[in-house]
Amino acid sequence: MQRIHKLSDKGVTPGLAVVLVGDDPASSIYVKNKEKFFLKNGCYSQTFRLKSSISQEELVGFVEKLNVDDKFHGILVQLPLPKHIDSQSVIDHINPLKDVDGFHAENLGKLFLGYPRFVPCTPYGIMELLDYYNIETSGKHAVIVGRSNIVGKPMALLLSQAFKKGNATVTICHSRTKPLKDYTLKADILIAATGVPNLISADMVNENTNIIDVGINRVEDDSEKGYHICGDVDFKDCLDKVKSITPVPGGVGPMTIMMLLMNTIKSAEDAY
Ligand code: NAD
Repeated sequence: MQRIHKLSDKGVTPGLAVVLVGDDPASSIYVKNKEKFFLKNGCYSQTFRLKSSISQEELVGFVEKLNVDDKFHGILVQLPLPKHIDSQSVIDHINPLKDVDGFHAENLGKLFLGYPRFVPCTPYGIMELLDYYNIETSGKHAVIVGRSNIVGKPMALLLSQAFKKGNATVTICHSRTKPLKDYTLKADILIAATGVPNLISADMVNENTNIIDVGINRVEDDSEKGYHICGDVDFKDCLDKVKSITPVPGGVGPMTIMMLLMNTIKSAEDAY
């Protein structure tokens, strides 16, 4: 990638520090994948594994050390954190110039105001997918199911603002939306980010809908592995009915890692 080569000519290797607290198996896999992807693309990534009993103060102290370590242009604290930790407070101690996940209050505020610095990676990847596949957003009705700080809310900010890709009319649905189907049926673009396996079925979508499935759900089964991964959308049920649909696994997941790399490169470029 040209931007990485340009940085390398200056003696700079974009570096990411990943902080993993505890031994959640899904988080361990995500972190490994991120590290592999960075190394494969000529960047640097180091994972710091911390015990789940770490205190809030110790964790904040650890992040503050990374803030002043020049090897790292990006710092990512893998979520979820153990229950006794206030996640947002830890994230708000990351230097906002190194917050490549885009979850720091300052970076979310900038996105809210329309001049983003780091866009959260999953919504950023979805915007790139919509752009790449020429899916029109301007004047369209985007229905987002899920209102989390890391997917649903930033997604709504990106799609509704007057950015190059955006200008959509956005409806945010959530666990208290009743009945969900009344809203999803009216979507030109449907973004499902709930963590509920196969929540969206074919009777909830129309023929003109472009579906983006964000969900990554581990569902137990009788296979040798004992589980399979599926999204929030019943893919088989919806595939033949809708205009387009992203698969799980695949689709949004790989885009998220790609955008993490892009944000880290941007951070390294901004630093030099
Ligand atoms: P979250 O648990 O923080 O939020 C879930 C949201 O879904 C909530 O706002 C809740 O109100 C809503 N919801 C729950 N049940 C619902 C229902 N029955 N009807 C309507 N809304 C409902 O989750 P999150 O962190 O936003 O993640 C959502 C999913 O996306 C998970 O499966 C997660 O693993 C996945 N995810 C994937 C990526 C990726 O890279 N592909 C990145 C982040 C999250």
